[in-house]
Amino acid sequence: MTERKQFRAIKGTRDILPPDSSLWNWFEQGARDVFESYNYREIRLPIFEETELFSRSVGLETEVVSKEMYTFNPDENPFTPQYGKLEHELFVAGATYSLRPEATASVCRAYIEHGMHTLPGNVKLYYMGPMFRRERPQKGRYRQFYQIGAEVLGQSDAPAIDAELIEMLMVFFARVGLTKTTLYVNSIGDKNCRPAYVERLREELRKVKDQLRDDSQRRIETNPLRVLDSKLPEEQPIIEKLPRIAEHLCDACREHFAKLKDELKLRRIGYEENWRLVRGLDYYTRTTFEVIAEGLGSQNAVCGGGRYDGLVKLLSGPPTKGIGFAIGSDRSILSIQEGGAAPKLGGLSVFIAWMGEAAYLGGVGIARKLRAAGLSVELPPEEMKFKKALGLADKLGARYALILGEDEITAGKFTLKNMADGAQRKYSEGQLLEYLESERRGSG
Ligand code: AMP
Repeated sequence: MTERKQFRAIKGTRDILPPDSSLWNWFEQGARDVFESYNYREIRLPIFEETELFSRSVGLETEVVSKEMYTFNPDENPFTPQYGKLEHELFVAGATYSLRPEATASVCRAYIEHGMHTLPGNVKLYYMGPMFRRERPQKGRYRQFYQIGAEVLGQSDAPAIDAELIEMLMVFFARVGLTKTTLYVNSIGDKNCRPAYVERLREELRKVKDQLRDDSQRRIETNPLRVLDSKLPEEQPIIEKLPRIAEHLCDACREHFAKLKDELKLRRIGYEENWRLVRGLDYYTRTTFEVIAEGLGSQNAVCGGGRYDGLVKLLSGPPTKGIGFAIGSDRSILSIQEGGAAPKLGGLSVFIAWMGEAAYLGGVGIARKLRAAGLSVELPPEEMKFKKALGLADKLGARYALILGEDEITAGKFTLKNMADGAQRKYSEGQLLEYLESERRGSG
């Protein structure tokens, strides 16, 4: 027989195994609980969309779209030529499809497609799931990574919407123990004031062009705001001297930003202003924000967000105001783990050590009742000597072992051993259920 290769997860993707997966579920459940308490509801979206949705919304000029998307062309699938006809019926002719690099575009597409602008009030949505970008993998940066996002779409751009969204984000981070964070906020103006600022910036940048590196030099013409994103040490002194957007905001934008900051104070949300926090895309307006966390090295941003009042219209929908954020789950969870704030979760409650056929029959019934009461129960499929069974219970981290032998079944009394201190007590079935349930409530 020829040697066959073993498969490994593709670079930049990874498996999330137990017990980490419990932490992930707890993290995601925390988001659900907090977001629902702010009256946000979940939207589940497809993982692939027409490429054009992303190129039009995220922007052709961005690295995410120009370099990092996983795109496929149904007309050129070498593996399934027999499906060619079906592909043509299902898909738009000539179109290509991409794995989503982010989800705001999909949310807006869905908002338009389902006429959600006719719904009462603001539409408040959240989503969670994998995103795909062909980036260079490193710690905290993957090609398949996970985001949890929230968006508010509607007719209003009241600063209270922005502030409540940010409050919700910080309440969530506090709930999951991500407290060593910094929230940065900024306003990047709107179509009335930003173009003039961008022109000023471009003029100033042209004057210092020779001192900038290639990327920044190119951006002077294509998208000068992006120069402010530069992390290159040698460019920092130059950038510090550039004109700042805050001094160029129109009255309406300045007032919006001032009110946002008042609202954040009202809600006791600590923040720092960061004039360099820009989103280099035309449809972004006014509020931008970012949260960074400790212990992550260079990839320390755990959330990015901002207003995008022009986006729905750009996607051929009705004029609509919008704001949202995307939390990076991978990095947030990494930071929680490294900060030592990860809770000890769930685990196995009861291991049923049984010997003899009658004990097994009794064990099956008891296991079902305990599981129905919300406990995690392991009932070994094959008989084991008590000593071996208790050894396995210990290795599996069970909190209790329930000892079932012929005698226990006959007497209707079961021995429960606390694995932490070795204490044993006998219970009737009713008492056992009652005791373990109260334990579960106490520990959960
Ligand atoms: P963005 O959509 O680029 O604003 O990203 C929002 C958040 O998603 C970032 O703050 C990161 O926490 C996370 N993120 C973005 N790209 C990656 C990646 N390649 N790997 C892991 N997390 C990422």
